[in-house]
Amino acid sequence: MPEESAALPTEELFREDARLTECSARITAIDDNGGLQLDRTVFYPQGGGQAGDAGELLLADGSRIAIADTRKGAAPGTIVHLPAEGQGEALARLRPGEVLTARIDWERRHRHMRFHTATHLLCALVPHPVDGCSITAAYARLDFHMTDPLDKEAIGAGLARLVAAAHPVRQRWISEAELDADPSLVRSMSVQPPRGSGRVRLVEVEGVDLQPCGGTHVANTSEIGAVTVRKIEKKSAQTRRVVLEFAN
Ligand SMILES: [Zn+2]
Repeated sequence: MPEESAALPTEELFREDARLTECSARITAIDDNGGLQLDRTVFYPQGGGQAGDAGELLLADGSRIAIADTRKGAAPGTIVHLPAEGQGEALARLRPGEVLTARIDWERRHRHMRFHTATHLLCALVPHPVDGCSITAAYARLDFHMTDPLDKEAIGAGLARLVAAAHPVRQRWISEAELDADPSLVRSMSVQPPRGSGRVRLVEVEGVDLQPCGGTHVANTSEIGAVTVRKIEKKSAQTRRVVLEFAN
């Protein structure tokens, strides 16, 4: 069972409901480096600029495995939960097939969600192509392909206005056929949709921004809270980097 099930895609519960903090799951594979694969998970794997989740796995005997990070696995659709250092004994007792509860560090994830949604607001305020993105619990960083200088005060004020306006944030799946049938929809997106998988996940900050995105977001811009521009850097002749942080 371990060999064949190792290539099974992991059911991505966070994709439909970013607010799920835990789920029951079964171990499908244990990698040579100790990475754990589950049949389903609430842990977001690092991707799209957003950091992977941390958290813990609660075992039936009451013990816990601390998870330090989450990554995409080598096989398509698989997700690997990476245990924190120093848990060799507990890990050695694990077997594929074992049922457990997977629970994310919600405080950390919620910061990812708040920052991630703030980067969508930034896309609306700075209408230039994005060529780099990093979202962590401590800061969010977005690189814009542009040559003009950016006004730190104006961006900070724009973010505060959009957060205060409490815009709903929604997501939906759309087929590539539907996208092809509606060129104006594609034109209205701040980021162009990837092609080839048959369907695209759209994230809409109502009245503000529409773009394809697979990350986790808050449900309303008011949930982002007070976010400020830490700095704006000229990374290259054609790149302006905006770094956000939480006000408190
Ligand atoms: Zn997003």
